[in-house]
Amino acid sequence: MPQMKKGKHATPALMRCPYCRTELAWGVIRCPKCNARISYGCKVPITGFVLAVVVAFLTASSLIALLTTRDAGGTPSISDAVLTGIGAFSVLLGFGLWLLMIRLAQRSASFSRSRRLDQ
Ligand SMILES: [Zn+2]
Repeated sequence: MPQMKKGKHATPALMRCPYCRTELAWGVIRCPKCNARISYGCKVPITGFVLAVVVAFLTASSLIALLTTRDAGGTPSISDAVLTGIGAFSVLLGFGLWLLMIRLAQRSASFSRSRRLDQ
């Protein structure tokens, strides 16, 4: 993993090649000095998506448990409006988490120097 200084801006203007220590502008795809290949944004693995779904599901179930009331007979009851609200909230939460992970992944750059490319 490349070590990058975290700046105030969303995309760092400069980064350093881990192989030859040359300062490179954000966006270049190849180091002019040592020919290392730079790729931006790593793919969010499917585990990230599963995690988002699990978090949304857990939030939904705890909210349902929290908002379920028991009537006089002891039967748990929850209104359809509350259920719909919880459903919408957890879908948004999972989706937001997923987008956040994609955003974070896109801010990373990875350097690679393969022998095949050097030839
Ligand atoms: Zn380099």
